[in-house]
Amino acid sequence: MDSKKVAQTIQDKFPDLTVKTNWSLAPLSTFKIGGPAQIFTITKSSNQLKELLVFVKKDHPQLPLTILGNASNTLISDSGIEGLVIKNTSQNIHILKKKPPESKKQLIPVLRQEKDSKKYLDFNSLNYDESDKEKVFVEIESGVPFPYAISHLLQKGVTGLQWFAGIPGTVGGATWYNLHGGSYHLSDFIHSVEVLDLKNSTVKKMSPKDLNFAYDYSLLQKKPNLIILSTTLSLYKGNIEKAQSTAQKWIEQKKKVQPIPSAGSVFKNLSPDLAQKHGFESSSVGWIIDQKLKLKGKTIGSAQISPLHANFIVNTGSAKAKDVLSLIKLVQKEFKNRWNIKLEPEIKILDNV
Ligand SMILES: Cc1cc2nc3c(=O)[nH]c(=O)nc-3n(C[C@H](O)[C@H](O)[C@H](O)COP(=O)(O)OP(=O)(O)OC[C@H]3O[C@@H](n4cnc5c(N)ncnc54)[C@H](O)[C@@H]3O)c2cc1C
Repeated sequence: MDSKKVAQTIQDKFPDLTVKTNWSLAPLSTFKIGGPAQIFTITKSSNQLKELLVFVKKDHPQLPLTILGNASNTLISDSGIEGLVIKNTSQNIHILKKKPPESKKQLIPVLRQEKDSKKYLDFNSLNYDESDKEKVFVEIESGVPFPYAISHLLQKGVTGLQWFAGIPGTVGGATWYNLHGGSYHLSDFIHSVEVLDLKNSTVKKMSPKDLNFAYDYSLLQKKPNLIILSTTLSLYKGNIEKAQSTAQKWIEQKKKVQPIPSAGSVFKNLSPDLAQKHGFESSSVGWIIDQKLKLKGKTIGSAQISPLHANFIVNTGSAKAKDVLSLIKLVQKEFKNRWNIKLEPEIKILDNV
């Protein structure tokens, strides 16, 4: 593929976009790690994202496509990403005037009981219930940064997202992963998700039931042909001051124990049953890496298992993706050898070159 020629056809079709080739992705990821995108552009609304994807699918059907939100749960390979990488940004949030038809949700058990709330996060002391409050339905475009969505909605009198304060992703990434904060998953609030199906370029709405949400999981992870355009959430007309102060406390707590540059928790936590089977006092993988494996501070190249939170790997300077991967493999090997546990990464490793 002549990437310059392909980039030019995209540029000609979409003069409002800036299309680059061989564009460094490291500065765009919260890890500050990764090689270049072969072709790169930034979309500014879901409509622009949709039109671009429909065009590319028609004119360059073989071109590999990658959608990035804030690349805050992503490890980009040192050799970069082949094809077109789109950074999806937007600020569009619509508070719906009419209540959409009800959709059924299933609640997911929380797998993040931290053993030592002084070292990690103290969920329980901040938790409260808003389910008796009047509901408000809000449609948020997938490229909206979560911190912006929270503060914008609080200003408009809408609460419910305070548990997710201090998380640097976009609404698209949060839906794809089923974001978790405190005792909540984003799916607890999801009414529907609007997706573009790249197979036939149609837009459809999917319900939480269609999307099989679970801890760190949605069906979207198995369906790369489905691109999230927007997510409609069922939120509350709750107590704004209380929600604001909760969000602030979350941010303060997270800053103390969640170091950057990083990509959040590297591994999924264990199920309570598995933790109990092995006699662990906590299902938190951070706690096990810290207390049982004593691997806090372990460094390979410039990648380090954080001395603050053992489920975080930090880039202490010029870390490469291969350094992070070596640390991931080391921890996985320890879990396998000592307890025969297959530890699953929570971060998405992007390495299609
Ligand atoms: C300091 C720090 C703290 C964090 N704390 C938490 C936390 O408390 N809880 C938590 O759950 N996570 C946490 N995270 C991880 C991360 O912020 C979230 O998982 C976030 O939802 C990822 O969103 P993103 O936009 O950055 O996704 P990205 O990393 O950009 O993308 C992740 C995956 O989603 C796909 N994707 C993104 N947008 C779309 C779209 N529109 N359509 C289809 N696919 C898409 C991408 O292709 C990729 O495969 C933390 C991260 C950091 C750095």
